[in-house]
Amino acid sequence: MVKAVVGANWGDEGKGKITDMLAEKADFIVRFQGGANAGHTIVNDYGKFALHTLPSGVFYSHTTSVIGNGVALNIPVLFNEIKSITDKGVPEPRIVVSNRAQIVMPYHILFDQYEEERLGKASFGSTKSGIAPFYSDKYAKIGFQVSELFDDDLLKEKIPRVCAQKNVILEHLYKKPPIDEAELLNTLHEYRDMVSPYVCDVSLLLDQALKDGKTILLEGQLGTLKDPDHGIYPMVTSSSTLAAYGAIGAGIPPYEIKQVVTVVKAYSSAVGAGAFVSEIFGDEADELRRRGGDGGEYGATTGRPRRMGWFDCVASKYGCRLQGTTDVAFTVLDVLGYLDEIPVCTGYEIDGEVTDEFPVTFKLEKAKPVLTKLPGWKCDIRGIDKYEDLPENCRKYIEFVEEHIGYPITMISNGPGRHDIIHRDRM
Ligand code: GDP
Repeated sequence: MVKAVVGANWGDEGKGKITDMLAEKADFIVRFQGGANAGHTIVNDYGKFALHTLPSGVFYSHTTSVIGNGVALNIPVLFNEIKSITDKGVPEPRIVVSNRAQIVMPYHILFDQYEEERLGKASFGSTKSGIAPFYSDKYAKIGFQVSELFDDDLLKEKIPRVCAQKNVILEHLYKKPPIDEAELLNTLHEYRDMVSPYVCDVSLLLDQALKDGKTILLEGQLGTLKDPDHGIYPMVTSSSTLAAYGAIGAGIPPYEIKQVVTVVKAYSSAVGAGAFVSEIFGDEADELRRRGGDGGEYGATTGRPRRMGWFDCVASKYGCRLQGTTDVAFTVLDVLGYLDEIPVCTGYEIDGEVTDEFPVTFKLEKAKPVLTKLPGWKCDIRGIDKYEDLPENCRKYIEFVEEHIGYPITMISNGPGRHDIIHRDRM
């Protein structure tokens, strides 16, 4: 059976921790979209790790970590990441890479940087990992598939063809040096040697796994609001962040996805530009940022401070709906224990009208939050493992959110560790 772990919001909801936890009972953990532009932070017995490309199952010896065809594969990043975990004593993980995954090229990273420089103040706040140029090329049909690394004749024909186009833009738009074709061919040979032990036909492997009754976890990156179709376009990422895309980005039948665990954070945070209705500023934001996550809300890839906000029922309801949520994992609830009162955004006021349905981007920019204040619980809830043992105001907060988003909260995360979790029956 297949389970997906995905985000309802802007990313950084704690999907890594939930995947790591669910991986205990899974056989395959699959990354199906995105690249090294976002990170998961995982805390376990080996230490604290920031993963960008590897799935969060690499810490178990019983799982196979899969890089699906939908991923933007940065081969050197993958290899440095494998090394960084084995250097800390994690046993060599079993990793397979789809022969149909495409490769982030060195020039994708440069184009990302050059474009953000060119846009200046109007930039997207890209992590400059080459993701947008990568996916643009994939759909323009000038990307390089892993399988192509093994066909030298193909590379020798394709490199000049692709570079001719790239070099016009480099020279005339960005005023930068052109791509050196011979150097690029050498780089691709290095990539081929690095990736070759891992390459496989992933959809075939997963087909057999399903026939054998294995459990497959699909691990999403970012969240619904960063989806290119359903998110806050154009301040989105370049690949679909939705569970449904897991079928495509892994190469499995859509009807095999039986459980969609949508991770929802107990307050909001976002990176990059774009409308963020329940955003807070100043001291209030600084305090939440400092106390947030595990050691503060700073980007796992870039280290930049995240934008902070109160819980947004409108965005989260929408986020859960588009994921096709069967279960909500409500995370980082322990962080809110310091507040006397906790504001929650229950509606958006747009041109004098209040709505609880998430609007299209141009309307979103005009939205003002409608806030309801709930009483805080003023204590540390870490270590509690039964729902009934949570303070009453904490349970009320969870139940308020559940009612407003309309999807069952069946897991509550009250700490960064694998076992900081409270399971709860469906109401
Ligand atoms: P992801 O990209 O969705 O995996 O999220 P990140 O890993 O970027 O951000 C989540 C952060 O919150 C990480 O630092 C986690 O260790 C931490 N975290 C996850 N769940 C909890 C929780 O329930 N409580 C606390 N305090 N931290 C958590």
